[in-house]
Amino acid sequence: MEFREATPTERMQYYAEEWNPRSIPDFITAALPEKEIAYDHNGSGYNDRYNAYTTLRELEVRIKTLNPYAVCASTAYYEHPEKREGWKKAELVFDIDAKDLPIRSCSCEPGSICDVCIEEAKELALHLMDTLKGDFGLGEVHLAYSGRGYHVHVPDERAEHIENRSAILSYVMGSVRPNDPLMVGGYARTWRRMMAFTVSKLQERDLSFLSPKVAAAVVEQKEAIIAGIQARKLDFLNVPGVGKASSDKVLEKLMEYAGLTVDGKVTIDTKRILRLPSSLHSKISMICTLVKHPETFDPFSHAVPRFVHERP
Ligand SMILES: [Zn+2]
Repeated sequence: MEFREATPTERMQYYAEEWNPRSIPDFITAALPEKEIAYDHNGSGYNDRYNAYTTLRELEVRIKTLNPYAVCASTAYYEHPEKREGWKKAELVFDIDAKDLPIRSCSCEPGSICDVCIEEAKELALHLMDTLKGDFGLGEVHLAYSGRGYHVHVPDERAEHIENRSAILSYVMGSVRPNDPLMVGGYARTWRRMMAFTVSKLQERDLSFLSPKVAAAVVEQKEAIIAGIQARKLDFLNVPGVGKASSDKVLEKLMEYAGLTVDGKVTIDTKRILRLPSSLHSKISMICTLVKHPETFDPFSHAVPRFVHERP
């Protein structure tokens, strides 16, 4: 599929004929008067900030008048969103952008995307959601297709008041070695899952710090390494052709890669704005979409606006 920019006429067509404001998730509309809305009018950035609306109808009228290039809502809830004052709390959010994934099994160069790495971004988002629900017991965890990857929104009271989010970030990403990697549950399990996920996507190009021969040995024996992780073997990287020094380096690198799979700045910044689900990602002509059924969601059939099919 070709990712082409939407023209102003196509944007107008989308917002007039296809967009339904009721597709904005309830967790945003229910708190609309506390959210800051930001617009990018022409692709030059979110220069129109400090917008606030008391009703969904007001927001609808505004969006249908502007046909914005992009529209975002704040993850924060404010007493005065029109001044960005009176911060109350913020959704816990994670941003997984396929184009920034440090390792992926496709041949995309950094900055590009394809259906393979978009699918891998979803796989990662689902792991992350599982950790948030299972290990943290968070109930409200939503997935949104962002256009080039996925956003995980957690509008759960228990998470929204946490101001320092770096610990939860490194936990969920498995970027720190657990004290006891053999523990059946808890963080050790999350860490093992992230290590297995990262190994499964490894290519030789991701191991350029090793000699080509050792890198090839790691990649060739990925399945054995993953089986070792799942069997809770401490020395899962101890496979033929990979010495102790190399396997130590690989493990460090795996944790580094795992930590880079989400954009940490987005999670840590509690005054972030994030693309509004249901709105158009004009740069690539895809719809930012709340994903209700992740297993069957396919962005290329569920997030493509009608005008793309009607293009000459
Ligand atoms: Zn790709």
